[in-house]
Amino acid sequence: MFAIEHYCKAESAEDAVRFLAANPEAKVIAGGTDVLIRLHEGSKAYGNLVDINGLTELKEITEEADGTVRIGSMATFSEIMDSDIVSRRVPVIAEAVGTVGGPQLRNMATMGGNICNGAVSADSAGALLVHEADLVILGADGERVASVLGFHQGPGRVALKQGDLLTSFRIRPENYKGFGAAYYKYAMRDAMDIATIGCTAATRLDGDQIDELRLAFTVAAPKPIRCEHAEKSATGKSLSEKTLKAVSDAVEKDVKPRTSWRATKEFRLHIIRTLTERVVRQAAERAGGKF
Ligand SMILES: Cc1cc2nc3c(=O)[nH]c(=O)nc-3n(C[C@H](O)[C@H](O)[C@H](O)COP(=O)(O)OP(=O)(O)OC[C@H]3O[C@@H](n4cnc5c(N)ncnc54)[C@H](O)[C@@H]3O)c2cc1C
Repeated sequence: MFAIEHYCKAESAEDAVRFLAANPEAKVIAGGTDVLIRLHEGSKAYGNLVDINGLTELKEITEEADGTVRIGSMATFSEIMDSDIVSRRVPVIAEAVGTVGGPQLRNMATMGGNICNGAVSADSAGALLVHEADLVILGADGERVASVLGFHQGPGRVALKQGDLLTSFRIRPENYKGFGAAYYKYAMRDAMDIATIGCTAATRLDGDQIDELRLAFTVAAPKPIRCEHAEKSATGKSLSEKTLKAVSDAVEKDVKPRTSWRATKEFRLHIIRTLTERVVRQAAERAGGKF
């Protein structure tokens, strides 16, 4: 039995925002794969729901004339994996969401829900961070655009106000063109497990040198992060084992792993260093580089 007191099936994004504004306790339900678990556990936080599941306008995946890729917040992981636009333009997003749960979950769960729940382990977070996605948010005061950089504020906390609805992700061409990118999820099992550590890298090359490295981790700090020191250590460096080692040394200044029942802090740090070398190498090779 779920403790749902009020339920509203939104007919449009504007309708959902109106309902949220009129009901300060109301929360969005998208695919429901987090919300229904919370309700099943007896949480009262989700007793007043606005359901955006039927809003096909929030599911679209399109490429705009200037090359900006737009992914609706209600696009499920399966729809993202099947998208020709995503595979051609931002394939690391498909690679990352393909590691979430299992097929049944991916048919229901959305990328909007994965980012709005603020999970430290969200598999889509790293890919969105390295592509510096813009988030289009509809609220009581109209529409605004916020960067995913800075959106995660701590475990379970994101920069959304009560009544805000994330409608889409936008990835501008300057944030994906020329980059090779890769994701690796280190987990105890190959499926139906959340990440012990997730590592995403995007690399743009200038000949045999690294022009720009973008490196993101999940579960390496209290929120998904970009790694400023590691990124700077790679700029202008040649593709070599020495560079990879220098980047994995520098990453220690960016991360703050903790001990949990899944893994100790020391083990996580070892995985972070190992994945830094492996995933940066793969991203550079996908950008056409050779070591
Ligand atoms: C068995 C199982 C395995 C899982 N495995 C993984 C995994 O491997 N990797 C992983 O990252 N996650 C995993 N999850 C967690 C979950 O599936 C994902 O976080 C999923 O992406 C949530 O999306 P949803 O559409 O189901 O969100 P919902 O449950 O509907 O919502 C999640 C939260 O986001 C808010 N929200 C949703 N959409 C919006 C929006 N458009 N605007 C504003 N707020 C919104 C809701 O109010 C709620 O707080 C797993 C869950 C289960 C049950």
